[in-house]
Amino acid sequence: MHKFNFDLWKNTSIRKCDFYDDDQFPDWPCPYCWKSSLSLQDELKYVCKRPQEVNLEDYSYPFNGLLFCNSCKLMVSISGWFSIEIIDHQVESSNYRPIYLEIFEPIYFIPNLKLFNLEKYYPQEVCNILDKAFALFFL
Ligand SMILES: [Zn+2]
Repeated sequence: MHKFNFDLWKNTSIRKCDFYDDDQFPDWPCPYCWKSSLSLQDELKYVCKRPQEVNLEDYSYPFNGLLFCNSCKLMVSISGWFSIEIIDHQVESSNYRPIYLEIFEPIYFIPNLKLFNLEKYYPQEVCNILDKAFALFFL
């Protein structure tokens, strides 16, 4: 019987910071084969359309991207909300330059991720209900 991995699923966002170079991408398992973790196919894309006088960190913006599995080579679509936080400042020529943390909070995956592997001996009706519940996890 599979156990729910609390450590794996408590990290529900992707955080990037150029200054600290400690990007952490969650070890989300491939929903097709459950053999590998998903990786980014390319950079996650977001669009910031805002008036010039507004600070970037005051708003959230939609993002999307593609993830892929190194084992089965299939793709997963990801979308959600992107935001920026100022986490520190750096002194540069006697000026303070903000250090930004980029936060990608996914809402939807297509196909949705599976919080635990649905074994073949599970009844199909149970698998269907669990799969629909998994799709709501990131909402
Ligand atoms: Zn796979």
